[in-house]
Amino acid sequence: MTTLRFRVVEKAFQTKPAAVHIPEERPSEYFGKYVFNREKMFKYLPTKVYQRLTDAMDNGATLDRDVADQVAAGMKRWAMELGATHYTHWFQPLTEGTAEKHDAFVEHDGKGGMMEEFSGKLLVQQEPDASSFPNGGIRNTFEARGYSAWDPSSPVFVVDDTLCIPTVFIAYTGEPLDYKAPLLKALRAVDKAATDVCRYFDPDVRKVMAYLGWEQEYFLVDEGLYAARPDLLLTGRTLMGHEASKNQQLEDHYFGAIPTRVAAFMKDLEIQALELGIPLKTRHNEVAPNQFELAPIFEECNLAVDHNMLIMSLMRKVARTHGFRVLLHEKPFKGVNGSGKHNNWSLGTDTGILLMAPGKTAEENLRFITFVVNTLMAVYRHNGLLKASIMSATNAHRLGANEAPPAIISSFLGTQLSRVLDHMEDSTLDELVALGGKHGMKLDIPQIPELLIDNTDRNRTSPFAFTGNRFEFRAVGSEANCASAMIALNAAMAEQLTDFKNDVDALMAKGEQKLAAIIQVIRRYIKECKPIRFDGNGYSEEWKAEAARRGLDCETSVPVIFDNYLSEGSVRMFESTGVMTRKELEARNEVKWETYTKKIQIEARVLGDLVMNHIVPVATEYQTKLIDNVYKLKGLFPPEQAGKLSAENVAIICKIAEHTSYIKEHVDSLVEARKVANKISGEREKAIAYHDTIAPMLEQIRYHVDKLELMVDDQMWTLPKYRELLFIR
Ligand code: ADP
Ligand code: MG
Repeated sequence: MTTLRFRVVEKAFQTKPAAVHIPEERPSEYFGKYVFNREKMFKYLPTKVYQRLTDAMDNGATLDRDVADQVAAGMKRWAMELGATHYTHWFQPLTEGTAEKHDAFVEHDGKGGMMEEFSGKLLVQQEPDASSFPNGGIRNTFEARGYSAWDPSSPVFVVDDTLCIPTVFIAYTGEPLDYKAPLLKALRAVDKAATDVCRYFDPDVRKVMAYLGWEQEYFLVDEGLYAARPDLLLTGRTLMGHEASKNQQLEDHYFGAIPTRVAAFMKDLEIQALELGIPLKTRHNEVAPNQFELAPIFEECNLAVDHNMLIMSLMRKVARTHGFRVLLHEKPFKGVNGSGKHNNWSLGTDTGILLMAPGKTAEENLRFITFVVNTLMAVYRHNGLLKASIMSATNAHRLGANEAPPAIISSFLGTQLSRVLDHMEDSTLDELVALGGKHGMKLDIPQIPELLIDNTDRNRTSPFAFTGNRFEFRAVGSEANCASAMIALNAAMAEQLTDFKNDVDALMAKGEQKLAAIIQVIRRYIKECKPIRFDGNGYSEEWKAEAARRGLDCETSVPVIFDNYLSEGSVRMFESTGVMTRKELEARNEVKWETYTKKIQIEARVLGDLVMNHIVPVATEYQTKLIDNVYKLKGLFPPEQAGKLSAENVAIICKIAEHTSYIKEHVDSLVEARKVANKISGEREKAIAYHDTIAPMLEQIRYHVDKLELMVDDQMWTLPKYRELLFIR
């Protein structure tokens, strides 16, 4: 019984780093090798078709059938040169991953043979059998079919033998069944609203892009050890396991030397990512043992989201060739840090200006402050929604623990920017706007150094921190699709910028000068959104009380947090920006609640099985060994001496009995509680029951299992322990 654990541990220790194939070309040469980027489009498409396609990519122009056919032909030629035999629409349903169904290029040629075929029709639209994807009842009520439609703004790419086409996935009645469709709408909305505001400052601005630079944290675990942990295998996290005597307390892992086997994995991953056009740049050890991080250079938001989805599947694949499993779960191990995915977000114009970066002149800085203050307003108004956008059964383990942002959204600006806002608030309008010389207005906006934030001015505890030329939304979970957070944030920003423009225009209609009107509105906003600004320690207990006084959303129950999507403010915001309707929001919440319930349900089942099949039998076997020993002592020594000699073992026998009987009893009540919860008909109420009654029981049972782990003979313990999972690399 004990052999499996020792076998896998031994093997894990012996595993050598895998050889990595290093291309002969430089990274700049093989970057994007498997992507149909502009360079390839130019090469493989007729000039006219190339122009039409880039117009569709840049300006959302529609492509007619004939052009689509020619694009498809060029794509097919390029893909087949790379050895592709299949194609797939690649989309992001409301699960965590991506979905794909591969079709071969082959068609009958009408003469009894086969030919390679890929038409514009197949490129543009498909009808994957959609009935098994989460949809929150949208298709049941309306239309049974869904379809996927090509997103020309994200380039197609080849993975292995398959041409992958990024698509949206929508119901026939038009409701999105995925993340990409609403994301594209949110990006369009923020483009429009931000462009309008930019034109106060520069009439040449035609387009505003949202940018996203994600930082992906993850754990690596030896594949053999992973396979011997059914909880990791089935739920992505350890449902039991006592802390190792050493974990992260020495702070010796963060930025430490990368272990060679891990370095080989990273190298391999980076090469393959670069070939797929993902501009990976940063890699390092993270805080917890066996925890690491990678980050690309930021990109346009939609592309960055696709690249994050792609890198997550690439990580899973590459890890296996190195004898690892990658854990993307937010909290695979209790007692050490969990994993997040910081979303660095900003807006930038087609004229090359980063709107969240300070400028050189007073006017540039007014524009900068305009965008910063509007961001704060958007985050303030929708702090509950933003929290809902990053919340999940898995991320809930990480948030609020003493390592990650609390389950309260606030924003950190740093001393310099705070001072600028305070100055604007405290000065009078006349002080800020003076009539000067022939240039009209003279602005008293303080100079802001371009490098705003040095390392001493970083608040690691803030869930939404300003970091020099961007905001960093740190509460996003490592496993999440970034689109969820980006939909909420960009849509909220679009609404806010639209309101801002209305407020400024209203003042101008009353005869106010433009800059004076902007400053007046900004000053009002600075006062109004003050409750969202928090520069202190977000982990502290005082902050929770203070945040509640400020009226920020302090709810901690995941299913209740999802209610934020359906608040009047959220529905108004999503509908006014054209991102989602109430009906869609309702349907998507059904999916969120259902997913939450299922995740806890699976964990409860796995825990029940594991304790009854692994833990209790092993503990009982060990207990029997001890009982045996007690009896033998009795046979060997006079009663009093035997009693003394066996006292220790008798105590352990009793302890084991206490723990095992607690476990058995509570596994039974866990089953009963599930039966009760499963009968609840509403998805929301069911999820709440799972949150309130079942999730806490998992923790209680675990407590006793972890106690047993310390007591039972190590030789008999079947499951790999934390010290092995976390320290073998
Ligand atoms: P840190 O860990 O110090 O926050 P990293 O270098 O790990 O920083 O990651 C920072 C991420 O932020 C990178 O993806 C980077 O490209 C991105 N980034 C930098 N500037 C911007 C910006 N203006 N908008 C969006 N993302 C940005
Ligand atoms: Mg980082």
